[in-house]
Amino acid sequence: STPNVWNFGAGPAKIPTPVLQRAQAELLNYNNTGMSIMELSHRSKEFDNLNNKTQRDLRTLLNIPNNYKILFMQGGGCTQFSAVVYNLLSAKRQQLDEDLKEEFNPPLDYLITGSWSSKAAEEAKKLYNNVNIVFDVKKLTGSYGSIPPKEEWKLSGSKAAYVYYCDNETVHGVEFNNIPEIDPSVPLVCDMSSNILSRRFDVSKFGVIFAGAQKNIGAAGLTVVIVREDLLTKSKNLDNKNSGIPVIPTMLDYKIMADHNSLYNTPPMFSIYISSLVFEWLLELGGIEAIETTNSLKAEKLYNTIDNSEIYISPVEKSVRSRMNVSFRIKREELESEFLKGAIDLGMLQLKGHRSVGGMRASIYNAMTLEGVNVLVDYMIKFEKKHC
Ligand code: PMP
Repeated sequence: STPNVWNFGAGPAKIPTPVLQRAQAELLNYNNTGMSIMELSHRSKEFDNLNNKTQRDLRTLLNIPNNYKILFMQGGGCTQFSAVVYNLLSAKRQQLDEDLKEEFNPPLDYLITGSWSSKAAEEAKKLYNNVNIVFDVKKLTGSYGSIPPKEEWKLSGSKAAYVYYCDNETVHGVEFNNIPEIDPSVPLVCDMSSNILSRRFDVSKFGVIFAGAQKNIGAAGLTVVIVREDLLTKSKNLDNKNSGIPVIPTMLDYKIMADHNSLYNTPPMFSIYISSLVFEWLLELGGIEAIETTNSLKAEKLYNTIDNSEIYISPVEKSVRSRMNVSFRIKREELESEFLKGAIDLGMLQLKGHRSVGGMRASIYNAMTLEGVNVLVDYMIKFEKKHC
């Protein structure tokens, strides 16, 4: 975006200005090749270097242990909804191979805290007949905006092929404030599309982490997958036809992607390039610890403004409010369109809530500056004074 605009979009979202400027400067001539990054061969030395460097920088940023592979895949977060089913059923089959005496039908456990985890569970049900809903907040309370206490979760224990959850529900603004505790023998699978790189966390607690790029990573087209090596299915299990589970389609197969360093087919080279610039930008800022501090401050300012006001309300329980997607309503809902129009006039764009929930949503990913949040907070206070 240009300097006179504050982009609060939920994704595709704001990309750091220095990243866009550098991409602009290098667009016609990448690394003295005389060509843009989009015109190079994906088998070239230049791209190979970029691919490896981008992975190394991500490994540094997130402190990813050596027994995890980083995959650059395509098809967005939504494609991973099916990829995890295929790959992790196959991994479970592999794990049980030796002593498999009964029919193979392990449950897949899903925690549903908003529309993205709900969609993921629906996709799993399409592909497989034993999906266990650990809880669905909407069914329990009538709407999304909270997470039930652990005592109420209906986990399947060690039988499960995996436990799935979405760390930050982008539409509803609900974020886990800690990593769910589950049976340590069961892989934890997490959709971090809208909060990866926003705070420190322990990668070693997870079996699979995935994230679409278009929020905190860069440009749409790339999906980052971080997978523990023992969950890659060995080739002898690739043919699952006779084991009661579907064959993994080639383009969704984590093992094939890992074996080819994500170059089985043509990767989204421009998106990977933009991510490499975003990772360098983050490292220069001081890494995740530094951005985490700014992110907490930004979220605190907005939630304080909401909580201290007479007209704004947050539909999300305090303990699970997202630091990335701050959703809020105006008590007199008829004022919301005026609020949004006034914001646009001041250059604050894409503040409208998701079409399924209405209201407002300020997405304040890593690239949104504290200055941008201050502009929004000032506007909210002035708007309130006008209407009190
Ligand atoms: N998961 C989450 C948490 C998301 O926010 C989104 C997209 N906004 C998706 C999955 C789907 O991602 P994509 O559009 O890249 O398929």
